[in-house]
Amino acid sequence: MTTLLLSHPLCAKHRPPEGHPERPDRLKIVDRILSAPPFEALAREEAPAASAEQIMRAHAEEHYHRIEQASPEEGFEQLDPDTWMSPDSFEAAMRGAGAAVRAVDAVMLREAENAFCAVRPPGHHAESRRAMGFCLFNNAAIAAHHARQVYDADRIAVVDFDVHHGNGTQEIFWSDASLFYGSTHQMPLYPGTGARTETGVGNIFNAPLSAGAGSVQFRDAMKTRILPALDDFAPDLVIISAGFDAHRSDPLGSLELAEEDFVWATLYLMDAAHRHADGRVVSMLEGGYDLKALAASVAVHVQALLRGSGDGGAPQLEDDV
Ligand SMILES: [Zn+2]
Repeated sequence: MTTLLLSHPLCAKHRPPEGHPERPDRLKIVDRILSAPPFEALAREEAPAASAEQIMRAHAEEHYHRIEQASPEEGFEQLDPDTWMSPDSFEAAMRGAGAAVRAVDAVMLREAENAFCAVRPPGHHAESRRAMGFCLFNNAAIAAHHARQVYDADRIAVVDFDVHHGNGTQEIFWSDASLFYGSTHQMPLYPGTGARTETGVGNIFNAPLSAGAGSVQFRDAMKTRILPALDDFAPDLVIISAGFDAHRSDPLGSLELAEEDFVWATLYLMDAAHRHADGRVVSMLEGGYDLKALAASVAVHVQALLRGSGDGGAPQLEDDV
């Protein structure tokens, strides 16, 4: 088995106004780096469009219809100070959510060991009834609900290392003890949520980091708070909200992570997945706004996924720095 890469050309056609950081070039550079020889072993599929029913497992019906109707004929529609739609945005968002659903199908049916969804717009800020923070539909939450609804997966975990807190995933999971949300993020920073005291029904684990925090603080937060809680939860599927804007080069955050930290986190999450979930990991692209850092980070993240999808079982964990 291998790693499945899901994407769709429509995801690059969602175009916020010129100068917006969440721009089509993000996906173009990810596409380019994943076309290089080290990634020949990836299985590749175009993402299908999600169905309305699949979206509405995580979102209110009114929210789905609002987004469906908000794509303008031309120009832009502004949904909040940061969140815009262009003519192809709804179709792009449906492919992003569809990638999440197809990735779950592939890992649950053992067609792939794990999967990476190179999609945009991102998802983790989208709440059940609200688009915000560049996000229209919450791809990770849609994946989690799909896994639970369709497969024998009772306990689903989302771990989010984007520099921003995934307020949307937290809100959607808040009162459901069979869904786990663990997040490292910079705080204070947009969207303002993510304190340690926000714990849902004992299923939410936030590990906020101060501006300037780097490898040591990030790995410590993972090892002391997120990973032990994940082990206790014993998920049937691990979903990663893989944002790479905690990279030290990113213009939107002030954490100091490097590519190696993303590899480290990926390997530990895969290790947890091997111990509890038969290795099943679905990774969704979230943020990452410095194109060079994004490409390098996605490359090492997907290489780590590939390392764990061969015959060798769980990849070897790397020592601390
Ligand atoms: Zn982010």
